[in-house]
Amino acid sequence: MHPDPAAELNEPQARAVAQTEGPLLVFAGAGSGKTRVITYRVANLLATHRVPPWKILCVTFTNKAAGEMRARLERLVGEDVGRDLWVGTFHATCARLLRRYHSAVGLGRDFVIYDDGDQRAVVARIVKELDLDDRRWPARALLARIHKEKQEGRSPRDVTPESYVDDKLVEVYERYEKKLASCNAVDFDDLLLHVMRISESESPEGYELRERFRYVLVDEFQDTNHVQYRLLRQLVAGHRNLCVVGDDDQSIYRWRGADVRNIRGFRHDFPGAEVVKLEQNYRSAARIVRVALSVIAESRDREPKELWTDNDEGAKVSIVSTRDERDEAAFVVARVRELVAGGTSPRDIAVFYRTHAQSRVLEEAMRSENVPYQIIGGTKFFDRAEVKDVVAYLRVLANPRSDVDLQRIINVPARGIGSTTVDRLLALADERGISLYDAVEVGLDAPELGSAARKKLASFRVLITGLAREAAQGSPSEMAARVLDASGYRKVLEAEDSPEADARLENLGELISSIGEYEEEALAAGDVPSLSGWLERVTLAADADQLGDVPKVPMMTVHAAKGLEFEAVLMTGMEDEVFPYKGLAPDERDELEEERRLAYVAITRARRRLWMTHTAVRTLYGQTRYGRPSLFLRGLPADAVEQLSTQPAPTARFEPRVAPAPVTRWSHPQARVAPAAPPAAAGERYIDREVYDDTAADDAEHAFAPGARVRHARFGDGEVRRLEAGTEPIVVAFFPGWGEKKILARFLQPGS
Ligand code: ATP
Ligand code: MG
Repeated sequence: MHPDPAAELNEPQARAVAQTEGPLLVFAGAGSGKTRVITYRVANLLATHRVPPWKILCVTFTNKAAGEMRARLERLVGEDVGRDLWVGTFHATCARLLRRYHSAVGLGRDFVIYDDGDQRAVVARIVKELDLDDRRWPARALLARIHKEKQEGRSPRDVTPESYVDDKLVEVYERYEKKLASCNAVDFDDLLLHVMRISESESPEGYELRERFRYVLVDEFQDTNHVQYRLLRQLVAGHRNLCVVGDDDQSIYRWRGADVRNIRGFRHDFPGAEVVKLEQNYRSAARIVRVALSVIAESRDREPKELWTDNDEGAKVSIVSTRDERDEAAFVVARVRELVAGGTSPRDIAVFYRTHAQSRVLEEAMRSENVPYQIIGGTKFFDRAEVKDVVAYLRVLANPRSDVDLQRIINVPARGIGSTTVDRLLALADERGISLYDAVEVGLDAPELGSAARKKLASFRVLITGLAREAAQGSPSEMAARVLDASGYRKVLEAEDSPEADARLENLGELISSIGEYEEEALAAGDVPSLSGWLERVTLAADADQLGDVPKVPMMTVHAAKGLEFEAVLMTGMEDEVFPYKGLAPDERDELEEERRLAYVAITRARRRLWMTHTAVRTLYGQTRYGRPSLFLRGLPADAVEQLSTQPAPTARFEPRVAPAPVTRWSHPQARVAPAAPPAAAGERYIDREVYDDTAADDAEHAFAPGARVRHARFGDGEVRRLEAGTEPIVVAFFPGWGEKKILARFLQPGS
């Protein structure tokens, strides 16, 4: 099929599509059709100019975006042709190129790509070889440094050591490179670096690579880093047929080395480049566009550009004040269900949060209401490595015979119990038919283990028995905190001092909160909270993931949402220090700027509906604090937003006890500071009051009186506890082995 540009493109878009030769920069705001220009441009090259598809390279930012672009292209040009196009992320594209040009960098054709865990294992081995103390030189921290050097395109000999630490880093980096080479392996950074180096070389492969593509198109160009840009310049050195599209207002990866100067310097690096500006937003309802513009208008240091829309006004953007994160999650789930009931596909309703740790409470709410969801670009909370590690510790404390768990933590964090020792212990356990834990005990007297290993095992055993003794007395959440301290897990992450380590610490704080919640609930139900009680709950929750191929609500961080669009968006955690994210150095104005752009990205994902929720009190990372509506919610255009509250009336029990206005680090000189959202006044619209009202009268029409027996397809037989009103009647019932579940009445049968 050949697209008819006149029908589906506006004038500047058509111009950008038609201008096929030479450098082209499409520079425009969100939702203005930049990605559309790329796809139509490719279609035009194929159909009108008969360019062979394998001579065209399209680069996007995430795998999801690449998948969507390929799908759009195949719709335009047909599957057969589409298949031969090069469409992918920088990493995927480079992996493919490296399979062809591997010999130029001394790699075998079957090189392997090492992931995080593999890389850590290599570095840990080097640390040992160099006789460094692994507590002072954690593998993760060393890798973070190596990653940084690689992103800047520096090999070990390009690093200028300025201290003893740097000296050691260079040494580790050198060995790391040698080891990878000798294993015929590369890491993710190498994929780009190797291909960049080949492209800059005078080797036959270098020539071929520079001739390989006749047209190169790059989406989200504002987020390319140094190495990527250098590679692009080589790939188009012969013909300069490079089309880049981007928006400096959406540059959100500077912490990862993205350099917005690339977009600003494009005209300088490619003299004579054509520049096309797109100004019409096609994606979002007018009110959403106005809200987005008012947020980004405060940004300093941006390229001037217009953005307007012809779309209708749409519903007001809702700013929702909620009580706490659980109330917020309940609000989110209620909106999702309402939208789905109204015919919106769950796939078209997105839930955003600023950091992964915030997903946990939302995930739990989705689970307890049986709303299928999917975490995009991240791992479900309980699947995260650090969470699994600490859960493994807790399992071992509850049951030392759990071999899998013990094996997971015996050398985590690194305490010098190497794989040889573990292998011997496992053999010993096998031989005698005992558990690994008992084998540790036996191993203490086994001469074949060597005295150094035995000493380490002895102190590990002391650690576990000591913790197990405490576990008999302490509450589960206290135990989790103790595990973090006593095992050295917290210390290692703190010492690492990288954004990744901080995120892990936050997740662990979140894990402790989750245990605390369980304790509260258990106490409220008259049970004694116990470690095994909590573990059982975690295991059951994991079981709820085994859902077939049903449409799921995508949940993601704002970073992962880049380039995507959804019918409805729920932005959660809109409080100061959550979003904009706290924990940055006080004078980091640049980072606040990046947060502002991130907010702009989030808002502009929504087509028709947008909610932004904030809480009065939030427990996050194990800390409870009063929240204040985000800086980004202040001064929004009054005709575009409505203020809502989940609280029935200002006199309600949960009316935020407003703490003295906290001094926020985010005071922004130009911010139009408006008073925080007033508490809902009488007569204002309340949301779902019923859902929050535990005493909701039961509905005689439905045979779900408290005490009635019911049956559910998954949970089996249960007993009704109460009925809640919603858009549909909701039954709260207790199912043995599952606990209390909230279920739409229509999914229940009368039980026997
Ligand atoms: P972002 O900055 O978020 O990446 P973008 O500039 O890449 O956005 P697109 O995703 O290409 O924008 O387009 C946004 C939406 O507008 C899409 O749904 C697209 O199909 C639609 N659209 C773009 N241009 C037109 C047009 N000329 N006519 C009708 N719809 C259009
Ligand atoms: Mg786009």
